[in-house]
Amino acid sequence: MNDVFDNKVALVTGGSRGIGAAVAVRLAEDGADVALTYQRGTDAAAAVVEKIKAMGRRAVALQADSADPEAVVAAVDQVAAQLGRLDILVNNAGAYHVAPVEELGQAEFEETIAVNVRAPFVASKAAIKHMQDGGRIINIGSNVAERVVFPGLSLYALSKSALIGLTKGLARELGARGITVNQINPGPIDTDLNPASGPFAATAAGFTALGRYGVPAEIAATVAHLAGDGGAYLTGATIAVDGGFNI
Ligand code: NDP
Repeated sequence: MNDVFDNKVALVTGGSRGIGAAVAVRLAEDGADVALTYQRGTDAAAAVVEKIKAMGRRAVALQADSADPEAVVAAVDQVAAQLGRLDILVNNAGAYHVAPVEELGQAEFEETIAVNVRAPFVASKAAIKHMQDGGRIINIGSNVAERVVFPGLSLYALSKSALIGLTKGLARELGARGITVNQINPGPIDTDLNPASGPFAATAAGFTALGRYGVPAEIAATVAHLAGDGGAYLTGATIAVDGGFNI
């Protein structure tokens, strides 16, 4: 526990489980009040909120499907209204459909673009109205945004590559205000989306230099760095936190 983010407010989309939950908890450990969104996991979201409140920080969970742009914007505005400000936005919620292109339908395409691309766009657009100078936007991409090492990842990869364009564009637009915008591209991280016990896990771990899956706290540590003073001169970057997957 420390006070790096004392009096700051963070919003983490998809913060009820996995990487998002670890990010929410880490930012609270470092002093932030934290809001998180979720889609279905009301109990899981409430558990993260209780954990943060037990640290003496304020926390709210908002049900907001990232596929619904109006819900995303309403959540951002509600965080600013309820917690009084917004300093750090972490666009983390993601849709992950793995299949060859010829097996993917329009629904999977639209959901992936809506959640992985449009939601960070509209959340950022809404958040920068509330952010003071020195704010932070951190997008959670994927190692496959840079290098597609398995078949079946075309749709997911295209969405996370598009996010790099948004990251760079926003960094350029917001630099004059000292607001930094960066993307973290995680490698295989042990979550419900990609369990380290799953059928492809040994292969994925084998692609990393470190020979293992990462854990959500290892992504949260980089988020905390980018969100803190140490990240002040770091913007428009795409940072691989992938155990050496893409080297
Ligand atoms: P999980 O499936 O473990 O957790 C996903 C979280 O996002 C949950 O809190 C879930 O809430 C929420 N969520 C999912 N869909 C929506 C939605 N439509 N609207 C709002 N919230 C939603 O995923 P991870 O933690 O593994 O992934 C987090 C991010 O990291 C994603 O962007 C993913 O693409 C990326 N990533 C993950 C990697 C990995 O190996 N795990 C590797 C590279 C990138 P609820 O339970 O309520 O649905």
